[in-house]
Amino acid sequence: MNVVWSPDYEVDIGAHVFPVRKYRLVKERLVADGVISEADLVRPGPASEEDLLRVHTPDYLRKIREDDLTDSERLALEVPFSAELRDAMILCCGGTTECGRRALADGVSVHLGGGFHHAFADHGEGFCLLNDVAVAARALLAEDVVEHAAVVDLDVHHGNGTAAIFADDPAVFTFSMHQENNYPAVKPSGDLDVGLPDRISDDDYLSILDRHLSHVLRDHGFDLVFYLAGADPYREDQLGGLGLTRDGLRERDRLVLGACRRRAIPVAVVPAGGYALETNDTIEIHCNTVREASACASRATS
Ligand SMILES: [Zn+2]
Repeated sequence: MNVVWSPDYEVDIGAHVFPVRKYRLVKERLVADGVISEADLVRPGPASEEDLLRVHTPDYLRKIREDDLTDSERLALEVPFSAELRDAMILCCGGTTECGRRALADGVSVHLGGGFHHAFADHGEGFCLLNDVAVAARALLAEDVVEHAAVVDLDVHHGNGTAAIFADDPAVFTFSMHQENNYPAVKPSGDLDVGLPDRISDDDYLSILDRHLSHVLRDHGFDLVFYLAGADPYREDQLGGLGLTRDGLRERDRLVLGACRRRAIPVAVVPAGGYALETNDTIEIHCNTVREASACASRATS
């Protein structure tokens, strides 16, 4: 299975709860464990200005190009803005687009980067500068290789930017299942929003997910799913308050990937958030997602 990744995602943001080294560490562990080889890695190119403009406003893109964000815009971002960060995020938008394209060809594809779902058309927030999944979805819609896509967002935080971007766009269905009592305080309506109680268990989480996902996938005839496999529903996440275990999260991945495969819907997987007290847990949760995707890909071709 090809995995999209770039070493340039590891931007220096100083001491921060966001472990930017996770992308490289996940890649290294997957190679060490033989899940993928170096030859499976695909280096993305940056998203074009045209691609970015299908989602983001010209004024916002100018501001980040010219390093002209206001103080409040920099504050809302919660990561230090730099040209290096901007270039990494533009590359990441290209990476998720590449991942979507490969999912259409191969049934399942993984990007070790992306899921920046708090980025809106005209501003970034919550560590998210550009909305890579939105850029990818609109690029593939513009190419006419996709007619109706879904975003299945299982990060612990509501996908507010994605919901707002696609609020009036029937071509993209947004499903977010998240902790209700968590950032963002304001949660713009997506097509389906499921707010979960604090500390929910694996079993309760999985049964709620199964019920909603079955309806979503059955009723709409999607030709591509973007799956945000956030590691932050983990019970020991510093920015999350759900009660899932590592095994529960792996079961979640199996459930989503299996549901898509049974319906022959291609699925593009991105990691989204993950801030476990022990970074090793975040790495392992993301690796498990890729292990499940790899198992799914080999079943699809056998
Ligand atoms: Zn998150």
